[in-house]
Formats: sequence, structure tokens, C-alpha cells
Amino acid sequence: MDRTSITPDDIKRLAKDKGYVIIAHNYQIPDLQKIADIVGDSLQLAVHATKINTGKILFLGVDFMAEMIKVLNPHKKVIVPDTSATCPMAATLSREDILSAKDKYTAPFVAYVNSTLETKALADLVCTSANAVDVVSMMEEDTVLFGPDKNLASFVREKTGKNIIPVPGEHGFCYVHDRVLLDEIRTIKMKHPDALIMAHPEVHEEIRRESHFVGSTSQMEKYPEEADSEKFIVVTEIGMVEKLRNLHPGKEFFAVDSMVCTDMKLNSIGKTFSAISEERNEVFVDEELVGGARRAVERMFDLMRSFSVKK
Ligand code: SF4
Repeated sequence: MDRTSITPDDIKRLAKDKGYVIIAHNYQIPDLQKIADIVGDSLQLAVHATKINTGKILFLGVDFMAEMIKVLNPHKKVIVPDTSATCPMAATLSREDILSAKDKYTAPFVAYVNSTLETKALADLVCTSANAVDVVSMMEEDTVLFGPDKNLASFVREKTGKNIIPVPGEHGFCYVHDRVLLDEIRTIKMKHPDALIMAHPEVHEEIRRESHFVGSTSQMEKYPEEADSEKFIVVTEIGMVEKLRNLHPGKEFFAVDSMVCTDMKLNSIGKTFSAISEERNEVFVDEELVGGARRAVERMFDLMRSFSVKK
């Protein structure tokens, strides 16, 4: 088959024939979101995968997300279109950074889910951008090590009032969210003065302060229903705009064009077709790290369960 003429429907048919469920992160290109059985944020997808009634998953996203799916679904076969789709932010945090911070502060370490398996295995707890504030609020300690995203760490500090120490510090950030400039947002706002600004907490503090809403991608999905506006400027990776347009067809969403994760965009229709037809690029995880990473994730689930009981 000529790979340039492959359509989303061809992939859907092939996945069905081979018994694959396709799950995609919110930041994937529109054509890949269209072929996915489920589109969501990384943890939503990993948890959702545990409920899927099939042993085969094609995942569209980057490496740490595929690893999380494998950790929570050890008996399922997980394949990806491109094994070089990795997360540069996750790679900024090393084992040495974590161990030396723990030595220096004797404080617990919370790993943002956007991190390597080794980072999670060394963590006391894992959190997502949706629950980072709740997780840290519920911890007994007033000083908490947090990494790798320094901007999310600063958001958690602002919301909890606790002493949040970013690890590895200034070098830990997502380039997509960290490099966006306040002037870019203001220029879009001038073109659409009645639009509300919704931003991901991985952006700089100055952009958060100018936003009407700050939340994770899963929280952004709900905000347009509650907000008193028909127009929104979406300050996160550009792929999220497609998801929001599909969810809220009557509303308008404006992207920040510079916010493109080139790693997420390594996945394509052609590579997805090849991965499924040849059943290749299977994801394997280091068994020595799985137990520790799983424990840190399960502690987060326990904490969130007790949080919802208390509420
Ligand atoms: S958007 Fe940022 S955090 Fe997400 S995969 Fe790309 S670099 Fe990593």
C-alpha cells in the first residue's frame, strides 16, 4: 500500500482487524485524534487503559506516557508509532539531582507525572497538573521537593503556601509552555478582546496572573461550560485546541501558534499504520523501576480517594 495515501479510516479498519485500541494524548495532530478511540491527558489515558477489554494498545504520545500505560497495564501489549518521541522536560531531571536534594533538605519528593520511570521510582508521591495542588496540600510536610517542572512548582507554592523546592531548579521546564511570551498572548487578546484566557500551569507566573483560568488539560475541557464567554484563548500545546473545538462546537478557541511540541508531532498517520500493520515498536519498562514507580502512583490514588471522601 502507498503510505502517502493512507487515510484515518484505513488505520481504524486495520486496528480493528488486528485487535488494537488506539489511545491518544490531547496534544496529537487532529488526524491522529480522529482515529483514536480515546483522547485525554496522560494519567486519564493510563487509568482508562486498565478498563479496556483488549490486550493490545497503540499509544499516540511520548515515551513517559507510554511507560505509564505499560506500568498500569503490565499484561497488555503497548506499541507506539515512533520510539524517538520523548519528552525533553522529563530528561532534565536525573537520579543524582533527586538524591542530592533529598540529602540536603530531608523532605519528601513529589514527581510530576511528566517524568521518567526512574524519577517516579525515586518519588514519595506522583502528581498530575490536575491534582498537584491537592496532593501537596494533603501532605503533612511544609517543605516539599517537586520536579521536574519549575513553573508547576511555583503554581503549587502559590496555591498551597508551602515551601516548594523545585528539582532540578531553573533547568526543569517544558519548552513549549516556558518559552511562550506574555506579549504573544496580549497580541491575541487585542484581536479577540472578549475572549477569556485559559492557561496551563506549566507557563510562567506572569502569564498565569493575566489568565482568567489556570488548569490542566482535563480541567480546561470543562471550563468553557462554566465560563461566561463564547471565546477562549488556549495557552497550552496547540493540539488541545482541536480537542476543545470537538467538545464545544458552538464556541471559539484561539491557539497560540508558537506552542508546538515537536516531540508530540513525531507521530504521523504513516508511522501509525506501519506500527499496527507490523505490530512493532513495543514498549518495555525496566522491571527494577516498576515497583517503586507503581507505589508512588498508588499513593497518589490513595490520597485522592481520601480527599474526595473528605470533600
Ligand atoms: S509538551 Fe512539554 S511536557 Fe509535554 S511532551 Fe512536549 S516537552 Fe514534554
